[in-house]
Amino acid sequence: MNKVSLYLHIPFCESKCYYCDFASYPKKNAFYQDYVDALCLEIEQVGESLQQCIIDTIFIGGGTPSILSVNQLDTIQSWLKKSFSIAKDAEITMEANPGTLDQDKIDVIGNGIINRISMGLQSTENDLLKKIGRIHTFEEFKQNYESLRKVGIKNINIDMMFGLPDQTTKGYINGLSQIAHMKPEHISSYGLIIEEGTPFYGLYHNNQLHLPDEQSERDMYDSCLQMLKDYDYEHYEISNFSKPGYACRHNLVYWDLKPYVGLGLASHSYYKGQRYEHTKDLEVYIQKAKQGQFHKENIFTLTTKEMMEEFMFLGLRKMDGIAIADFEKRFGILIDQVYGKQIDDLLKEGLIQEVKNSLLLTRRGMDLANRVFSKFLIDE
Ligand code: SF4
Repeated sequence: MNKVSLYLHIPFCESKCYYCDFASYPKKNAFYQDYVDALCLEIEQVGESLQQCIIDTIFIGGGTPSILSVNQLDTIQSWLKKSFSIAKDAEITMEANPGTLDQDKIDVIGNGIINRISMGLQSTENDLLKKIGRIHTFEEFKQNYESLRKVGIKNINIDMMFGLPDQTTKGYINGLSQIAHMKPEHISSYGLIIEEGTPFYGLYHNNQLHLPDEQSERDMYDSCLQMLKDYDYEHYEISNFSKPGYACRHNLVYWDLKPYVGLGLASHSYYKGQRYEHTKDLEVYIQKAKQGQFHKENIFTLTTKEMMEEFMFLGLRKMDGIAIADFEKRFGILIDQVYGKQIDDLLKEGLIQEVKNSLLLTRRGMDLANRVFSKFLIDE
């Protein structure tokens, strides 16, 4: 049976964080039940079309999936269970934000099929959390974390951010060490990106956002690499660290260009060589679902050239990089025949290195990753 992964999108949040450009809508409580009903119809429909597949990983993301009620969370899990052949050892993640979890929800998680929780903490400093529009405190996070452990969740990721307004290297490092001390199986540490259309975008362009300078940001990242190594985390992707054996299998599906099917509003899919997405319009999604219609939008089949590009820049995100032989195995042509010049230039610039027949980013390459990735776009 072919292995496939599923992504389910829950597009609701309590309020909008000031840096966020994800498809997530605050104050839409009135739509929660209709949305869950629609999503379950899609689960059923996609389940029928994937009868011949085994589901290896599921990621319920958002938005804030933990904003849904106990019954709604339970219903989604039940529909997943009865609609798909889920591998016995499947990794099933749900994103949960402190401030939206209570003991009843944590019990439903503990008794259901979800076996991995990804917690959006972002910072341990309450004043910083407020500044970026988060609704929770560090103390609430710690309570939720302990409760999740008590109901038997053995695989927890914690999202942290650096490069936040008025954040100091010392504050970031203190926070990260408190988190590492709690021994989650996985830590993601992302740098803030100022996205167009967010409140931070306007503030930034009016010089009203006091962001750490480039050197401080680099110091934060360097300290993160060193500290998490000292705490026995493996650095396996630019922003991701795990205890041995706990790399996020779902995210590896994306970086390894393996198939996944997205369900729900604004979800993306990559299946049978095609990329497509669903509408971002909440009411349209719900209305169409009532007629059993889940339209695919922006469908395109990746050309070989596009697949090669994605193979390079997604693969290079991983610290193991790209096995040179895999390129030939996948595309039937030597990597040097397509990218010889780019690879030579990047090796000379010290942005990538060749280690045991693989190409990987150097430390400097990690700082300039987007520049490295752009080199692999093929001109026609
Ligand atoms: S909780 Fe996550 S998805 Fe929701 S607004 Fe904040 S960053 Fe965006």
